[in-house]
Amino acid sequence: MSLEQQLNEITGKLYGKNIAECTDAQLYYGVLQLTKQKMGEAPAITGERKVYYISMEFLIGKLLSNNLINLGIYEELSSVLEANGKHLADIEEVEPEPSLGNGGLGRLAACFLDSIATLGLPGDGIGLNYHFGLFKQVFRDRLQRAEKNDWIEESSWLNDTGISFEVAFGKKKVTSVLYDIDVIGYENGVNKLHLFDIKSIDESLVKKGIDFDKEAVDKNLTLFLYPDDSDEAGNLLRIYQEYFMVSNGAQLILKEQKELGHDLHKLHEHVAVQINDTHPTMVIPELIRILTEQEGFTMDEAIKVVSKTCAYTNHTILAEALEKWPLEYIEKVVPQLVPIIQELSDRIAEKYSAENVQIIDKDDRVHMAHIDIHYGYSVNGVAAIHTDILKETELHHFYKLYPEKFNNKTNGITFRRWLLSCNKELAAFLSETIGDGYKKDAAQLEKLLTKKDDQAVLDRLAEIKKGKKRELVAYIQEKEGISLDENSIFDIQIKRLHEYKRQQMNALYIIHKYLEIKGGKKPVRPLTFIFGAKAAPAYVIAQDIIHLILVLSEIINNDPQVSPYMKVVMVENYNVSYAEKLIPACDISEQISLASKEASGTGNMKFMLNGAVTLGTSDGANVEIHELVGDDNIYVFGEKSDKVISHYAKADYVSKDYYAKSTVIREAVDFIVSKEALKVGHKENLERLYKELLNKDWFMTLLDLEDYIKVKDQAFADYEDQEKWKRMMLVNIAKAGFFSSDRTIAEYNKEIWKLK
Ligand SMILES: *Cc1c(COP(=O)(O)O)cnc(C)c1O
Repeated sequence: MSLEQQLNEITGKLYGKNIAECTDAQLYYGVLQLTKQKMGEAPAITGERKVYYISMEFLIGKLLSNNLINLGIYEELSSVLEANGKHLADIEEVEPEPSLGNGGLGRLAACFLDSIATLGLPGDGIGLNYHFGLFKQVFRDRLQRAEKNDWIEESSWLNDTGISFEVAFGKKKVTSVLYDIDVIGYENGVNKLHLFDIKSIDESLVKKGIDFDKEAVDKNLTLFLYPDDSDEAGNLLRIYQEYFMVSNGAQLILKEQKELGHDLHKLHEHVAVQINDTHPTMVIPELIRILTEQEGFTMDEAIKVVSKTCAYTNHTILAEALEKWPLEYIEKVVPQLVPIIQELSDRIAEKYSAENVQIIDKDDRVHMAHIDIHYGYSVNGVAAIHTDILKETELHHFYKLYPEKFNNKTNGITFRRWLLSCNKELAAFLSETIGDGYKKDAAQLEKLLTKKDDQAVLDRLAEIKKGKKRELVAYIQEKEGISLDENSIFDIQIKRLHEYKRQQMNALYIIHKYLEIKGGKKPVRPLTFIFGAKAAPAYVIAQDIIHLILVLSEIINNDPQVSPYMKVVMVENYNVSYAEKLIPACDISEQISLASKEASGTGNMKFMLNGAVTLGTSDGANVEIHELVGDDNIYVFGEKSDKVISHYAKADYVSKDYYAKSTVIREAVDFIVSKEALKVGHKENLERLYKELLNKDWFMTLLDLEDYIKVKDQAFADYEDQEKWKRMMLVNIAKAGFFSSDRTIAEYNKEIWKLK
């Protein structure tokens, strides 16, 4: 049966209509069913040894387009629909986006699953099925409001497996249900993303916004991703979620291994468990608990096997992000785990006296990362500079104990989503120019370098960029009601809102530019500044920064003296789908975190791959981008990480000194509380942010501001040399192959998992 016949049959059954008669929404559900059917027919990936990638977050984004591409039927289906007067792109718009992650860490997990399957490696994801995921962001009165994101529909990618486990929270027991999402590799077989849920979930607990009763764990456990952790109830719920995930995960792993007839004493020969940041750490004591309590292992045997099975990925050096749970919280949630954690801690205390390697510290707090490092066989950072900082500074004391455990795995992104799917024009042109090989072997993108002086190739790259900018202009007009100029330079900063990522520094630049234009100094070409960012609801200063950007947008876009030369947009509810529209349209990629603070970043890689030029600090993977493209194809500014680390060590950064020294800085910062800003914005938010910058500025915005202004102005000036700019675009695309998550996963496999 042809694809057209198959789809007609499905829509006939569902709606009594043929393709041409269906609405886009009906076609979406029809195509969903067809795609799931095809994935069901694809072979499962199997092997002697399998990885379980366990993570609190899988920011998978919409799945339709990617699944069709990986099945190899995107083009065919697209033609079928066109022949019936329908457009696949319109149908893709109908799909709700599951928001099962906060940002980079969760998106990385999703890219990894795609690459694991694409490389034909046996590997499943284990996570939670949050009903409302991360909140949906809306702007009201220039402030962020959080609403629930209701993404689970009657028919979705979730498959009910019928598998369920008991999970005990002390004497309380809850029953889990397991939903699977098929993960199909690019022209390869299928792995699974296992998402656990509770049977007794009660969506009606959520009244207004994202508030709900935090005590009713048997009803709320999987309602939201990371609920507010600013109070004890929030923290406890987080521990409930973590334990629920790992207990289910451990039970699933052991069940599968037993079904395969594997001896659990040889678990480490058949299984690798990759722990994505510290959130799933309790899988270590939980596996030990089950093996000793239910499988007849001695404590020594269990610890030995589990330690050879689990591997840990560190994602951050921000102290406030490293989990240290009070033992008393764990006691409240999972008392049965406390004796195991105590035993693991005692064994370390017996061996090592140093306070900074203990699992339970003097204040009875449990350092989750320390469990992973002592009782796992691998510890990896996510970019070269990050791993170096771990080894030399943050985890130096552990590195001295276990040098052999430490390794680097520079992050990557799946090119199926971040090129083939989101920029079909560029992907097609690359195939035409250098052949199709780059789709499976990303290193082949380097062939593009041979076209560095080919005028037709350079012009075409610029045309494709222009086309994507045009599409974005139309989309932003529709969604945000703001009109943009496709001939302006698109300068984009999209990522979670955090002070270390320094959206506030970008905002200060924008103020500076605005004041320049007001003073008569006009840019040669209009500038468009685009932001997208959600802030944690409890993160007050982050809300204030969003407020400032929305205030600036209001002032600037409505000022007839200024708006012909610059526009500012903060898009609402930045998510994966929005990223897929923004990234291909970008000229300048803002990667301006304070050096040493961004472990890797992956947004930087997506932009580069789509021909944007990076404006960035020497941080995370920016360092490796710089090494690959060379000085001439990137804009680097700001203090280096060693200097920054020394500022913290000596506590000698004083933001007021920078404010006092520089008129440019002073004028920009003062504008935050100027009459003009206060007329549009809220006094409370703007004053708080102003004071924060002057009195604390923990992430050293003012330290780098002048250099940032200088280098950014240079980038804008260079854009006018279009021939030079096109070549920069080309070099960035050509050198992006290293950042394919296929490369990252091949390294994980070769050095950590060793799958067969
Ligand atoms: C890639 C991605 C991120 C990570 O961006 P960074 O710039 O690396 O922080 C966050 N959110 C979404 C939706 C993404 O696609």
